[in-house]
Amino acid sequence: MNTCFYCENGEKLRSLMIEICELPYSKVYLNRDQKHRGRCIVALKAHKTEYFQLTPEENAGYFAEVSKVAMAIFDLYHPDKINYATYGDGVPHVHVHIVPKYQNGLNWGAPFDDTLPKQLLSDGEYGEMVEALRAEILK
Ligand SMILES: [Zn+2]
Repeated sequence: MNTCFYCENGEKLRSLMIEICELPYSKVYLNRDQKHRGRCIVALKAHKTEYFQLTPEENAGYFAEVSKVAMAIFDLYHPDKINYATYGDGVPHVHVHIVPKYQNGLNWGAPFDDTLPKQLLSDGEYGEMVEALRAEILK
């Protein structure tokens, strides 16, 4: 059976990310691996697998939400650049990884590397980040 963990919304999803909030076109998640501080995922609510499958309205709405989340990350964590990554070979559901990059920090000047060891936080630390991001995104 071919399952999509974004649509499934179960243990697999929760092992990788924590829901921050829901917007009209997307759901926003905090990535559990925080070696790039502030890294989030913005997933389209509908199960579509390519940007060209979105209606013009969905496209505009979704990418406005991606921008809004990136701005919240920028204002809270002050990265030097934000990287936006869409791959989806394994999980084709439309989503963008929003990955803050810091000059002289990990993977600066190169693509982020998920093969490096994860940096996990305590539940309290995740909670603080989720609260701060939610407030910033929804303000
Ligand atoms: Zn899906």
